[in-house]
Order: sequence, then C-alpha cells, then structure tokens
Amino acid sequence: MALRVVGLLIRQEVSSLASKAPSRMFSSSPRAMSSVLANSPNADFNKKLMDRYSRLKLNPNVIQATYVWIDGTGENVRSKTRTLLKKPESPAEVPKWSYDGSSTYQALGGNSDTTLVPRAIYRDPTKFGENDIIVMCDTYKPDGDPCDTNHRCAMQHTMDKIKDQEPWFGIEQEYTFLDFDNRPLGWPAHGFPGPQGPYYCGVGADRVIARDIVEAHAVACIYAGIDFAGTNAEVMPAQWEYQVGPSLGMKCADDLWVSRYLLWRVAEDYGVVVTFDPKPMDGPWNGAGAHTNFSTRAMREDGGLKEIEKAIERLSKKQDHHIRCYDPHGGKDNERRLIGRLETSSIKKFSWGVADRGVSVRIPRGVADAGKGYLEDRRPSSNCDPYAVCNAILDTCCV
Ligand SMILES: [Mg+2]
Repeated sequence: MALRVVGLLIRQEVSSLASKAPSRMFSSSPRAMSSVLANSPNADFNKKLMDRYSRLKLNPNVIQATYVWIDGTGENVRSKTRTLLKKPESPAEVPKWSYDGSSTYQALGGNSDTTLVPRAIYRDPTKFGENDIIVMCDTYKPDGDPCDTNHRCAMQHTMDKIKDQEPWFGIEQEYTFLDFDNRPLGWPAHGFPGPQGPYYCGVGADRVIARDIVEAHAVACIYAGIDFAGTNAEVMPAQWEYQVGPSLGMKCADDLWVSRYLLWRVAEDYGVVVTFDPKPMDGPWNGAGAHTNFSTRAMREDGGLKEIEKAIERLSKKQDHHIRCYDPHGGKDNERRLIGRLETSSIKKFSWGVADRGVSVRIPRGVADAGKGYLEDRRPSSNCDPYAVCNAILDTCCV
C-alpha cells in the first residue's frame, strides 16, 4: 500500500502534464498520505507473517463458521466465529447462536441475549480451511419477535406468498473509500481533486484509487458463491460500484449483505475505510445509490412491457412509502442524495422514463426495444437494507 501510494504520487506529477487531466487530481502531499497509514494499524501489520499459519495442515472436518448479522443501526454488520465439527449442508444444519444485543444497539442490558438464526451459507475466502464458511443470519429478540432491523423476516413472508411469480433482483452497489480523516481516499487533505469527468470507468493512476481492493473483493465474492456480476469505477474519485444478481428471490439481498461484509473485511486488510453513505461529499460530487433492477417471470416473457408498466403505475402511487423503505433512516439519508441533479430524481415526486437517468424508475432502452425485461428503481440509497427495498417492491408490485 505504502509503495503504491508513493507510486501514485510520483506518477501524479507525470500525468499532470496531460492536457485534458486536471493538474492536481489526487493528494500531492506525501505527509498527508503517510499520516493515513500511521493512523491505520491494520495496514501496518506485515501480512507476510500470516503465511506461516496459512501453511498449517488443517483437518477439513473441523471448520470455522463466521456468523454475520445486521446490527441495530440497520446499515452495519457484526460477525463472530465458532468452530463446527461437521460441515453443514444447509442453513438448517448450522446451529443457532446468540450474542449480546445490548452491545449492538439491539437490546437493553437486563435481557440482552439475542438469537442468530442461520439463513444462507457461503464459502469463506478470508479463512484458510477449504470448508470454512460465512453464515448470513437474521436476528430475534428474547420474546421470539424479529429484531427491529430484521427486515429479512418480512421479505421472506412476502416471498412465500408470491414465489410463483419468480421475482428476480439485481442490485448495483455504489460505495466510497475513505482514509482515516474521513476524506475520500487519495483526496488532498485541504482542497479537492479536479472536477468529475475523467473518473467514471477510468483507467490509470491519475483517474482511479485503490483498484487493488476492488479486484481482491471481486474474487473474494466469486469464491464465496455470490452472484457477482461486475465492477466499475464511479463518477466521483474514490467511488466505485459492483453489481450482484440477477438472482431469484432472497438470494440477491443475502448476497448483497455478504458482499458488503467482504468489502469491509478485505478493505480492513488494507487499512482503508469503506462507507456506504449516500452522499459522502457535499457539493458537485455524485452521491451513491443502490439501483435495484427487478422483474417477474411475466415481465421477462414476450409482451412483458405491459407488466412493467403496470408495476410502474403501482409504484407511482406509493412514493412516500418507498422512500421510507429505501434508506435506514426513513428517507433522511436520501434527502441529501435525491436532489433532482447529478443523475438523480427529486425525492418529492415520482417520475419514470425510458433510458432517462434523472427519474425514479427507468426502463432501459434495450428493454423498451425488446418489449420485455425488467425495470430499474433508481431511488434506493447505497446504505439501504436490500431486504427492506426488495420487500417494498414485491409488496407493491406483486401482492
Ligand atoms: Mg453506478
């Protein structure tokens, strides 16, 4: 990382000669960059030392299972690991577990045992054992009710009612890398990079930041068994996107949460902070969303455009409800992002269109031409809970 950063700084001088490139895109202060590393103990560890332990011959029947769950913020995850003596074949074979909900904003101290119920299993790319797994869980209070931030339970309930409609989801997850002063990674500590323009899908050391983490995260997700569709650099420097899906029913939302866990976990190795905040920088900088692509079997069949238009008609009548479901603060986060500019619609008014990126719901040009396919709901915030988003869409369009 340190070498890369130094390299980036040296090359920044060279690239500033290019006529179209703004002259000071990224941080040009070596002191600013080294203070980032000094404040990031995880990046300072010598990672080569782990090689000793990675070469140990492990018993494949003794596995580590890392349970992952959403905490009381509704946007962050927690995890803890236990050893199992048999590889589970399904989530039902993974033992339930509990944790201290008073330490995750989910319970009061007097009665804080909160239950983890395993729901989906993934291979674990961060552990050494070939059978080690990640277990995505949902959470329950001592009285058996789902925790307030357990939206998976409600989505499963809706799915059970309409599963013969075979809903598919695909989600475009945008996010931003930060350093330890909470500025986007690689930005000057005082001042700004050159204006947006060269960074989206950019290539080159003066256009993108931290591709190492993006690449490591992609292979980690594919190894894990996530339906990982791709990545691209985004419009604001240090902002990136990846996509999951299209996947049937619950899988897309399960995959998205595990992919977020892996992004935080991989970036932890590099000592870099990941934020899913929908508007990390005020001013002329794009926010971050989680555009949600959705279809049913009827929409994907010949003549499906009619079904897509019916769904849009239903969505248009429930703008307020959907905005409340599309970020973890009931619409407050999206107020900063959905401003009717910078490729967003206004939070106050539902709109739709073909091939238009300034609307609430877009029908892609290819879908309009084919007369079938899917719609894209552009409103969900990057820090949304995909269970809440997918559930709102299913409830409005399918029930
Ligand atoms: Mg994008």
